Amino acid sequence: MGLLSEGTPLSWSETQKHSEHVRQHGIRQFISLYYRLKDRTKDSLKWGDEVEYQLVRLTKSAASSSDQQQQQQSQFASQLSLVADQILPELQREEIENGGRASTLWRPEYAAYMVEGVPGEPYGHLLAHLNLVEANMRKRRAQVQSLLGSDVYALTLTAFPRLGCPDFCYPGAKPTPEGGVSCSAFLPDEVIYSGHPRFRTLTRNIRERRGKKVAINIPVYRDLNTPDGLLEPPTEHTAAALPGHIYMDAMGFGMGCCCLQMTFQACSITEAYLLYDQLTPLSPVLLALSAASPVHRGWLADTDTRWRVISGAVDCRTDEEMGLKPLERNRFRIAKSRYDSIDSYLSADGQAYNDIPLTMDEDILRQLMEAGVEPSLSRHLAHLFIRDPVSLFSEKIHQSDTEESDHFENIQSTNWQSMRFKPPPTNSTIGWRVEFRCAEVQLTDFENAAYVVFIVLLTRVLLTLQIDLLMPISKVDENFNRAQQRDAVKRQKFFFRSGAHLYDNDPELVKAELREFTLDEIVNGCQDFPGLVPLIRQYLSMSHTDVDTMCTLNQYLNLIQKRARGELLTTAAWIRKFVTEHPVYQRDSRCTEAISSDLMAKCVEITQGSYRPDELLPCTSSKTSDTLPQVISDAELYLDNRPRRNGPK
Ligand code: GLU
Ligand code: MG
Repeated sequence: MGLLSEGTPLSWSETQKHSEHVRQHGIRQFISLYYRLKDRTKDSLKWGDEVEYQLVRLTKSAASSSDQQQQQQSQFASQLSLVADQILPELQREEIENGGRASTLWRPEYAAYMVEGVPGEPYGHLLAHLNLVEANMRKRRAQVQSLLGSDVYALTLTAFPRLGCPDFCYPGAKPTPEGGVSCSAFLPDEVIYSGHPRFRTLTRNIRERRGKKVAINIPVYRDLNTPDGLLEPPTEHTAAALPGHIYMDAMGFGMGCCCLQMTFQACSITEAYLLYDQLTPLSPVLLALSAASPVHRGWLADTDTRWRVISGAVDCRTDEEMGLKPLERNRFRIAKSRYDSIDSYLSADGQAYNDIPLTMDEDILRQLMEAGVEPSLSRHLAHLFIRDPVSLFSEKIHQSDTEESDHFENIQSTNWQSMRFKPPPTNSTIGWRVEFRCAEVQLTDFENAAYVVFIVLLTRVLLTLQIDLLMPISKVDENFNRAQQRDAVKRQKFFFRSGAHLYDNDPELVKAELREFTLDEIVNGCQDFPGLVPLIRQYLSMSHTDVDTMCTLNQYLNLIQKRARGELLTTAAWIRKFVTEHPVYQRDSRCTEAISSDLMAKCVEITQGSYRPDELLPCTSSKTSDTLPQVISDAELYLDNRPRRNGPK
């Protein structure tokens, strides 16, 4: 979840005093590295994925099965297992012993029941690399699994359905609404990963900056017997709950969700702008296709994704910044949370589509522009830098502007946006990168590999076929709203360029020609749009690779096509169906302990491959491999040989 500096965390009041210092030195650090690295070219395409896991304990409950039926119980009990701090040292041992190199790399995540794994080496430019992804994901999962007790499972689950309900974690812990770090009425502080101070510090500082607990209200899915008004009797600690909404009051409800992210290294800063921009209109499409979280705190939601939950979970804006009170102590009205969709494009072509107001720190903007930083990048950074640091370590306050980048990273890594533009780290061989951050994680390695490969292939389509997907950024935001809705794949339409304007450069033409398409039309094509998968197939037909890789790619693309068509359910739709069709479901929108435990038992079986719901997954097993084939055709397409589109002016 970003920068993991070591040290002694400062309180919010201390951190606040250093806000301007962090911003000023952060921007100088950026300017210094921009000058060193802006002309860096010839980096090759490299990319990698990040998978976040939840550790779920599933035990057989003691009661007999007839008792269970009568009492509407499950034969299982499921809880989140707070053991990340116990297994991480072992997961990281190889990396630490080998000076940073290992076959897989492990990082802590926000929650004490989460870990994050990435491949040890990035993948490269060969199509055959795409066939390594799933095998590597399997290896990662097996590694975590081997360190867990026999009743704990590493699940790639986006949201645990009963996070924040009574007894949801093991060992048990009680929430402390009167004090502590998050002051939640539902989530005990023990669920925050304690092996690194960052996570608790962020939780406390976000709450203190805001002046009160975060308040997340997600519309409940209305069924026949769903309670009217407030879902639960009010208490003094749930005063911000809205009627008809699932109320959550802590950072952990959002940052305790898991996702699937990808990072791409571009060959130059200009190509990084292009990837950042062109992937942006695809992000809501991927959010809808990967939707996997329809249940929060034991209630079925009317939304299918984690997006609004996390956005609210780290929303540190004060009432003044939200526009609820006149600006007196704060500097800006701020339209979005720190976790949200991006607000501006970076490439030259993108500028005409930047149609939402960008709140900027004018002083930072002036410094960047005076230093000659490209205007669109200056505006982007001046926008990120309206935020205060929300985690600072006393040992890190005084830093070099030329040798270090912690202050820059401090602000950058707490802007959790749908895309992230990443400069090369100081003193490294890594180039300019773009991170694609919105996809929800799927239950199986097969699906996660399919989604990753789909995006990687889309980047190749964007770069080699040179199609242009840009649309006004306000329309991307509207697509984000739609992508989160229940059954967005089947019930929503999304703004997209029509096929006639895929190669157009004239923004005026395109604005007029934006149309609304179903996800099926966007992914599979229709009269007015060639379809993302057909475009990928066109790209593949120009490239060569080994038969096994081609076979795997076809299976992945088939999964994506069937999900878009509605022939296979999204994970969210499958979970929702499981809950609403469960024999003890009372049509009251509640995902009870029994339902949730049965669901978790099924998720374990699906993960392990011993159960495959026909409506969720195709009947295939991919030919993924953990090594590259021996002979790779010379004709494999090298991404760096293609012509370039225009970069920023
Ligand atoms: N778990 C967060 C999410 O679901 C992302 C945290 C991170 O940036 O690594 O979006
Ligand atoms: Mg992460």
